[in-house]
Amino acid sequence: MSRGHITVNREECKGCSLCVDACPQSVLALSEKFNSHGYHPVEYLGECTGCGTCFYACPEPGALTVFKRWDLMEETAFCPRCEKENKVFREDENPEILICTSCLKPIK
Ligand code: SF4
Ligand code: SF4
Repeated sequence: MSRGHITVNREECKGCSLCVDACPQSVLALSEKFNSHGYHPVEYLGECTGCGTCFYACPEPGALTVFKRWDLMEETAFCPRCEKENKVFREDENPEILICTSCLKPIK
């Protein structure tokens, strides 16, 4: 399992490719598909180390979320939006709420 993981918010990505060029693992690429703004959003190809370089290269706040130590995140839950079992995390302020690592929305 990858040490890190990233989640892409396709609608926030402008397809500038800065993260693709910056990733030392070469695990990012622009999609051939379009988002609703007409951009080719970035896609995650796997085997992220969680270094965070893509996050700091990206000019769009909210386009990328990096999970460090993905391999140690064990808690999962069924996400009704994603319609599958995904890894989840809990924010420090509201530890009772589970957040899906795929859609980044709370699981109710
Ligand atoms: S966190 Fe690092 S290894 Fe993972 S996708 Fe971003 S730049 Fe690449
Ligand atoms: S995630 Fe950010 S840096 Fe990467 S292509 Fe999209 S807008 Fe550019």
